[in-house]
Amino acid sequence: MNNDAKDSPRAAVEQALSRLDVNLRTLEPGHVWLAGAGPGDPGLLTLDVVSALGQADALVHDALVSPEIIVMAAQAEKFFVGKRGGRLSIPQGDINALLVRLAHEGRKVVRLKGGHPYVFGRGGEEAQALVDNGIPYRVLPGVTSAFGGLTSAGIPATMRGVNGAIILATGFAAVSDDRPDWSALARTGQPIIIYMGLTHMAATITDLYAGGLSPETPAALIENATLPQERTVVATLGTLVEAADRDNIVSPALIVIGGIVALRTKLAGAS
Ligand code: SAH
Repeated sequence: MNNDAKDSPRAAVEQALSRLDVNLRTLEPGHVWLAGAGPGDPGLLTLDVVSALGQADALVHDALVSPEIIVMAAQAEKFFVGKRGGRLSIPQGDINALLVRLAHEGRKVVRLKGGHPYVFGRGGEEAQALVDNGIPYRVLPGVTSAFGGLTSAGIPATMRGVNGAIILATGFAAVSDDRPDWSALARTGQPIIIYMGLTHMAATITDLYAGGLSPETPAALIENATLPQERTVVATLGTLVEAADRDNIVSPALIVIGGIVALRTKLAGAS
């Protein structure tokens, strides 16, 4: 693929940008922008986030952000605050403190997260810490992995005649107050997309049965959505755990449950 040719997709981006007639905002020293990098594919970055990466002199990022995106912040000192070997290396309070310190030092700070910062990303907690410390901030949305992942797997998020709502849930909060009432969610009959759901998948499925979902309900797993190594496994609620084991599905992955999964048979061929 030659991306440098005059009529390449890259040249098309440059040409379109050269005609962009809006004022993107300036990242001021001492300000923090909480930005969403999307699920992985750099093509899903927003213009605001691309501009933020170009302006930042300090970039605080997670493991979920692709290396191709991190290098775009060419001028920035990089602070990695993600998980190593499945362990959170830095507690959330320390990440908040780092953002506050960098802002107080007069840095132009971008806090880059996978997906959307306000969707299961702890962006709200970081924004609260910035407010508490009087630090000016903005939140730049990103494509959340549910919508990026459903799309790249060929599953519409909504379809007339199939679903009139869609539920985004976390499967991680097994025992805390954030734990969704799975049987109540199941009773809505609407599709459920579960983030961070692999660890407690079997228990979650048992709870969904209690809400009336049948083991025949279509279900899928989407691993590394929108990245070149993306894999999708289609199963049913009753066979999902076995399918995940057989194909060794690992994080990051989404669990998709409901009738929309069945639409994939016809729609997965988009290129
Ligand atoms: N703020 C993020 C979610 C962070 S929670 C967002 O809006 O997408 C982390 C979870 O997101 C992972 O456990 C996984 O369930 C999901 N996730 C993030 N990126 C993903 C990807 N590329 N493919 C599949 N799931 C992904």
